[in-house]
Amino acid sequence: MSRLRLILGDQLNLNHSWFKETNSSVTYVMMEVKDETNYVLHHAQKIIATFAAMRFFANQLRSKDLEVIYLKINDKENRQNFYENIKSIVKKRNFSQLEYQNPDEYRLMTELQKLHSIEDIKAVPVDSEHFLIPKLYAKEFFSEKKHWRMEEFYRHMRKKFSILMEGEKPIGGKWNYDVDNRKRWDGSPSSTQDFRPSHNHEKIFLEINDENIEYFGESQATDFRWPISRDESIELLENFIEKDLLYFGDFQDALHDENWRLFHSFLSFSLNTKMLSPIEVIKKAEDAYKKKDLPLASTEGFIRQILGWREYIRGVYWANMPGYDQHNFFEHKNKLPEWYWTGKTDMRCLSQSISQSLTNAYAHHIQRLMVIGNFSLLAGINPKEVHQWYLGIYIDAYEWVELPNTLGMSQFADGGMLATKPYVSSASYINKMSNYCAKCKYNFKEKVGENACPFNSLYWNFFDRHQDKLSKNPRLGIVNSQLKKMNPTQKEQINKKAEFYLKNLNTL
Ligand SMILES: Cc1cc2nc3c(=O)[nH]c(=O)nc-3n(C[C@H](O)[C@H](O)[C@H](O)COP(=O)(O)OP(=O)(O)OC[C@H]3O[C@@H](n4cnc5c(N)ncnc54)[C@H](O)[C@@H]3O)c2cc1C
Ligand code: SF4
Repeated sequence: MSRLRLILGDQLNLNHSWFKETNSSVTYVMMEVKDETNYVLHHAQKIIATFAAMRFFANQLRSKDLEVIYLKINDKENRQNFYENIKSIVKKRNFSQLEYQNPDEYRLMTELQKLHSIEDIKAVPVDSEHFLIPKLYAKEFFSEKKHWRMEEFYRHMRKKFSILMEGEKPIGGKWNYDVDNRKRWDGSPSSTQDFRPSHNHEKIFLEINDENIEYFGESQATDFRWPISRDESIELLENFIEKDLLYFGDFQDALHDENWRLFHSFLSFSLNTKMLSPIEVIKKAEDAYKKKDLPLASTEGFIRQILGWREYIRGVYWANMPGYDQHNFFEHKNKLPEWYWTGKTDMRCLSQSISQSLTNAYAHHIQRLMVIGNFSLLAGINPKEVHQWYLGIYIDAYEWVELPNTLGMSQFADGGMLATKPYVSSASYINKMSNYCAKCKYNFKEKVGENACPFNSLYWNFFDRHQDKLSKNPRLGIVNSQLKKMNPTQKEQINKKAEFYLKNLNTL
């Protein structure tokens, strides 16, 4: 039986059991297609890094004497979508079976189901062998429960995989050290250099330009700093564990305009393209804690992101698709301000976070959640627009992980399935965690003056205009009672200021 096996751009898992077989009647196929570059407007680095990693992977397979058909974006015979390309390959060569690894996104699942209709070939899906649990595991876990609490799921995962455990109990006696993960960073300890590899991707860049593929963000063709192979990803992981994990916990939520990485790992692209597996990352961190005596709060904080959040988020996605992207709990309709595409705003926290995202295709969690996401929600931006912007801009953005994080956690558009309350704050939180406010045109202390920080009036106005939906939320007791007690004249002034900002979002 001659088999054709399709490998997608985010399935670069060299340890998949496929590649352990010694079967000469197997041919692999990989393809760069416009259906994948164009379903949303992408950051240039995301397209280029993905193609570079795919090409490297194909060559690695060839070096193992495996046959690989590789369609580049500019190949003449490339029909630019999976179905047409596979149909044409099957017609030319006499394959009897087509195998593909289950994709992680609903959009792609629908696309690949079409392959089953190709005549004269049997299509067989297989596991991608990447995640720790099946995609509907979380749905089952929460089936009897009203709320999907990540913490409950995370504790279950710690026990199930015996990570940071002493028998049935968590090492150190506590499950979660989140309260120890909230320090501000003021220049010390100094974080390590950006140790990611450097690549010149000029050729791919020219090819995507020749094909008129649209993109945004920093498109400079040289010096791209994303790992494109498993070896580079392992180096990144080892460097992180060696030098930065020590401080990851303390400064996980910190923001600073002179240091956009701080102690974050940069591993999301390697993980989401499957060059690294989640369990190997978790085990390496756990091992380092045991052998090198790293702080438990840092190790636990890091492991929680992958063992807890990442698997949980995937569960939320698959339990709610299709349809999750349609939620708009607050019925927000505003358009994204134009400066989301340029970073040109006087709001320093946003100009820093967005400009950095445009330059590097990266922002760390708190920039995504408590700066850009926070503002988007307070400004009443349509969550679908916010979702598409996030899906395009970040190097690690795949719908299965981006959508629940953006639409659910950050925009509360699902009405609170993931988050117990909306993640919004006034300027005081941003000032506490960053040095952004000190150099900002706006005054973080003011609510209504000429240069009052927009976060302040928008924050109160958000709760005021959504009282019908939020007044009974038990986690918002303090905010709601402060709002009730607010002097009516002051409330009116705040609402007036907020309305002015809402009408002039493009000029902030
Ligand atoms: C609005 C919003 C959108 C996001 N979109 C994405 C996305 O498209 N793709 C993506 O991988 N992550 C997304 N995240 C989660 C998180 O911000 C990124 O995983 C992280 O910033 C990647 O950088 P890092 O590898 O340096 O992470 P680190 O801070 O070093 O964390 C380590 C790893 O933990 C995992 N992780 C951490 N938080 C989460 C989370 N909430 N959900 C899933 N995995 C998590 C990631 O794999 C990450 O690589 C989003 C978060 C928010 C608030
Ligand atoms: S003052 Fe307001 S807009 Fe300026 S950096 Fe601080 S929070 Fe952001």
